[in-house]
Amino acid sequence: MRKLLCITAHPDDEAGAFGGALLLYHERGVQAYIVCMTAGTAARNRGTAQTHDDLAELRRAEFAASCRLLGVARGEVLDYPDSKLDRADLQQAVGDLVLRIRQIRPQIIITFGPDGGLTGHIDHAMAGTFATLAFEWAGRPDRYPEQLEQGLVPYRAQKLYYHSADFHLPDRQPISQPTVTARIEIGAARFEKKVQAFRQHTTQAPLFERVRKNLGQGGGAVEMYHLAAVSNPREAKLETDLYEDVVDD
Ligand SMILES: [Zn+2]
Repeated sequence: MRKLLCITAHPDDEAGAFGGALLLYHERGVQAYIVCMTAGTAARNRGTAQTHDDLAELRRAEFAASCRLLGVARGEVLDYPDSKLDRADLQQAVGDLVLRIRQIRPQIIITFGPDGGLTGHIDHAMAGTFATLAFEWAGRPDRYPEQLEQGLVPYRAQKLYYHSADFHLPDRQPISQPTVTARIEIGAARFEKKVQAFRQHTTQAPLFERVRKNLGQGGGAVEMYHLAAVSNPREAKLETDLYEDVVDD
């Protein structure tokens, strides 16, 4: 069974940053899992929420609706504080992700790079940093050995990808992106469905027009990724399929 794990920072990242790949690989029979590290409660746009807990509840429900539309097998929202992932406990955050990798056993992990993925958000950068360490450490018996006492075994995913692009957002601070090594054709129909998934996040409605414009840069029909690490050493090459060279177990 092919499985893909997508590690994000906020509800709506799954749609805005990774929605095209999630849709495409779902159609190809891949089971997709999402671990989102925060409930997005620092958002400026709060919908009808009066309190922090209201907003967390609304955003978790919106995330679930988006996941349904994207064909995600299971989406999970963790409880790390929004906009403060740089202050999260590294040992704990990486351990939470290592645990999911050992449980889910995905061949591929997709996440943000340390640039913070297009917007440069600090939580994106940190989610990707934690995910990168988790990718490396999940396969080592000497990391988080206490997780191995209940029947879990070390697990090495085969490929780690960062979200990337060959353009900058004009209305943001410039960032230095990872090089594009994979161009995934998602096509116009999946682009529309990805925008629709983003629109499940109704608390974020004031962002819809701007996000659609940003997602549509370069036509919007291609999602770009950077192959950051592989379990089988090899030279870099330009890819059109994240599952290229993946060995089925
Ligand atoms: Zn985000």
